[in-house]
Parts: sequence; structure tokens; C-alpha cells
Amino acid sequence: MIIRKTPDQIEKIARAGDIVAGCLEMMKEMCRPGVTTAGLDEAAEKYIRDAGGIPTFKGYRGFPASICSSPNSMVVHGIPGDYQLAEGDIISLDVGVTLRGWVADAAITVPVGVVDKLKLRLLEVTAESLMRGIARFREGNHLGDISSAIQQHVEENGFSVVRTLVGHGIGKAMHEEPQIPNYGTAGQGPELKAGMVFAIEPMVNAGGHRVVVGPDRWVISTADLSMSAHFEHTVALTDKGPRILTAGTRTDGEKLEFASMLW
Ligand code: MG
Repeated sequence: MIIRKTPDQIEKIARAGDIVAGCLEMMKEMCRPGVTTAGLDEAAEKYIRDAGGIPTFKGYRGFPASICSSPNSMVVHGIPGDYQLAEGDIISLDVGVTLRGWVADAAITVPVGVVDKLKLRLLEVTAESLMRGIARFREGNHLGDISSAIQQHVEENGFSVVRTLVGHGIGKAMHEEPQIPNYGTAGQGPELKAGMVFAIEPMVNAGGHRVVVGPDRWVISTADLSMSAHFEHTVALTDKGPRILTAGTRTDGEKLEFASMLW
């Protein structure tokens, strides 16, 4: 069952989303050569707790950290540790925050220093595919409209979407129904209705779509070791259309444009 939220509940998720957005923005600015993923995790946990939130990922099914940090050919679920960012890396940063019982979840992929054109294009196409998916999150559309919009944009640009990992409904729990694949057929699946809140999250590989699980049984990497990118927003469907709850605002009140979440 897809749990629909009231406008008041959506506001509560949006407050959690503000912390998620601020945390991602802070980490993005930290992503320089020599910084460790454990250092990013430590800063993120402090940021979240100082804002009154709980890092949702920490302890989730035994996950040991507050963020997932997945450089280069890692797709998602990388455990932070002593890996040092290097010039030319790309790194996916994924974070969830629970605030007063409501959860928001988002991810960005960040270039470290100067990265090659293929990686930049991969980041751009993945972020664009997320926004195209969000644009189809409208009353009267179907879930497959979101999925197919993402897949089409990715494949038109010569990349592939990961099949075995999907987006999800979100609310009081981080993972609610429905599952939101990043591939599919327009017009299929449940009809989209106001009050639905989805974490939409394309995971896009520069090479083939196949992925493998690492020895820690968490990290997912591309099977062919090609580069991978991941962008995610928590989005509510309101009667005015899709509203991104993890876009955030700067301290000066300026609304963050999605592009500024990129680089
Ligand atoms: Mg998610």
C-alpha cells in the first residue's frame, strides 16, 4: 500500500529534508583531495545531530555510518573509512535524516578537483535524468512514467541504469512502498496521486548496467568497473505538482537551485 501524506506531514518531511540538503551542501564543499570518507561521515553526523536530527542510516540493518560514500566505480552503499579522495575522483554521497519521526533521503555525486569529460557528462546526465523523472511525478500519471523518463534520458546518452536497486516511497519509514525502478514503461504501474512522497534515485553507469556486491556485503560496484553516478531527491506530489523536499535553502535564504547541488 502506498501511504499518502497530509500537507502537514509533508511539511514535517520537508524539515528533515532541509537538514539533508544542508548536510550534502556542507559535504560537497569538503570534497577535496586528501579528505577521507570517514572524515565526511564524522562531519555529517555532527551536522545532523547539531540540527536536532538523527542520522537514519546509522544502525539501519547494521549499517555502521551516517552516510554512504561511494567513489568512482562504486554505485551505492559504500561504508566510510580511510579512503582518501583523490584529484579526478567522483564520489556519491547519500544521507538520510529522521526529524521528529519523519525521514528524508537524498544523494549527490561530486567531482573532486578536475575530472575528465566522461565523468562530468555522467554526472550531468544522471542529475538531468532525476529531474526528468521528477517532472513526470504528476497526478494522473503512472509510476512507469517516472521510470521510463529516467531510463530514456540515460540510454539516449549512451549510459545504463542499474536494474537491481530502486527508489522508494518514504515517510515515517525510510523505505515504504512503492519500489521505483529507474527503468520501465510509460503508463504502467500505480496511478500517481497527491500526498505520495517518493525518494527518486537514478543510479547510472558509464558502462553496462550489471553490478556486484563487495566483500563487506554492503558496497555495490559496477561489474565492469566503469564509473557510476547517483542523484536522489525526496519529492512530494502536491496538488500543485511535484515539490522537492531536499533542495534546501542557503543560510541567506536563497533557494538552492538543483544545479548548485552538483558542483
Ligand atoms: Mg534512497
